Amino acid sequence: MSSAAPIRTTISVAVLMADSLYDRYMKASAAYRVHVKACSRCSPPVARCTAGRELHTSFVRLQDAYLARLRRS
Ligand SMILES: [Zn+2]
Repeated sequence: MSSAAPIRTTISVAVLMADSLYDRYMKASAAYRVHVKACSRCSPPVARCTAGRELHTSFVRLQDAYLARLRRS
């Protein structure tokens, strides 16, 4: 049993979480942009339909979480 093993595990979990957060942020951003382009009821920042608002909310939340993580590291 090496005492270094738990440390390596912690680092790789942190890296995986960062990657998946970035992926989710990029996917949310793309989904929102695709929706706005295709949707006749969305013209941000003035108007958003229900689906557009939901997509925008999850995009903003993931962006905030991602940027907060960048500032901490
Ligand atoms: Zn819309």
